[in-house]
Amino acid sequence: MSRMIGYSCIRCGTRHPADYAIDSRGCLRCFDKAPANLQVVYDEAGRHADGGGLSARVPTLWHHADMLPCAAGEAVSLGEGLTPLLPVPALGQELGVPNLLVKDEGRNPTWSHKDRFSTVAVSMARLQGARVVATASSGNAGASLAAYAARAGLSCVVVTFAGTAGPMLTQIRKYGATVVALSEKADRWPLVAEGVRRLGWFATSPFHAPVVGSHPIGIEGYKTLAPEIVEQMGGKVPDWCVLPVCYGDALFGLWEGFKELHRRRTIDHLPRLLAAEVHGSLAAALAAKEDPIPDMPARFDTLAVSIGATRSTFQALKALRESNGAAVPVNNSGLIALQERLAAREGIFAELASVTPFAAIAEMRRRNVIAASDSVVALVTASGLKDVDRSSDAADAPPAFRSLAEAWAYLSRDEALCAAKTATA
Ligand SMILES: [Zn+2]
Repeated sequence: MSRMIGYSCIRCGTRHPADYAIDSRGCLRCFDKAPANLQVVYDEAGRHADGGGLSARVPTLWHHADMLPCAAGEAVSLGEGLTPLLPVPALGQELGVPNLLVKDEGRNPTWSHKDRFSTVAVSMARLQGARVVATASSGNAGASLAAYAARAGLSCVVVTFAGTAGPMLTQIRKYGATVVALSEKADRWPLVAEGVRRLGWFATSPFHAPVVGSHPIGIEGYKTLAPEIVEQMGGKVPDWCVLPVCYGDALFGLWEGFKELHRRRTIDHLPRLLAAEVHGSLAAALAAKEDPIPDMPARFDTLAVSIGATRSTFQALKALRESNGAAVPVNNSGLIALQERLAAREGIFAELASVTPFAAIAEMRRRNVIAASDSVVALVTASGLKDVDRSSDAADAPPAFRSLAEAWAYLSRDEALCAAKTATA
């Protein structure tokens, strides 16, 4: 049985019943002024009933089912969450924050943080009797939804536009989703809206402009990042959490998770949040101190395609404001170099969007907003294999040699490779 009793607007607090039809516009009262997403409301009495019980022994994010809308026993799971929190001292030293940690979300079942969203969204879709789940994403969200739908035995529709290619589309097809490509990019959302209205599809992605965020039920899954980070830091709260941000689903979910731990007195203070964004809509909204998020001109084609939207959301702005946080626009300059430094110095291969937090951290150190002594957790949201078509080129091909002697001569020129074995005790 689900423990959610309804939804409330994150901006004005208007309540809706649990069977309210989510139409992707969020709160209709706020829609014309400052579009805002809805949030799940729980029966506080029923919510903690199995906390610390069965779910406490589940080695997935369902370990924290007491924060989620249904119980661990009802979950559609592929073993998501409980990803490692890894110190990255070499990169931290370079960026001027030696106490830098990476929450490596690329270790999730479909190699991105979206699995935290999909496990909850698909579990609840199944409980609510949905037969079809749908999304307008052919990126990480689409791949993740397709996998969980396969796991649940539900049909999955992924709507994209003609010409989309790359590793993630292959991944989506392999999970058996029905992929529909439209020649007009603008037709994607109306098609999803039609499926929701006429066929009762459970749509997880936005399908209405301006975007308020993804389905509120899935966003609940991101709350589990907070207790994982606190547990992995031995009960401590980091000074900063830094995330790549598009529509801010994960940023908002993570923040709500920390707030919940604070209400339960598990932690005595909250971290500050830093959003690494592309076109700067959150930085502009924070500076303007107004609720509507401006739509920014796209001045360049970003390499960080997973977060390339020109307008973020009120949910992201709210989390940044409440945490006394900040947003830093990150362009393409140095992004591939940062990806290679993280991989070559720390052994973590991240998607290009996932290295934007490091550029944002470097900028905030320059401004001295992040102090050298601060503890900083950067969320690496997806594996570098996800957009390997964008981050690699012909120069990555290794040199080829016609003979063993030539290959040996090449290796012998590298001092590091010629170093003698380290003496052992
Ligand atoms: Zn509202």
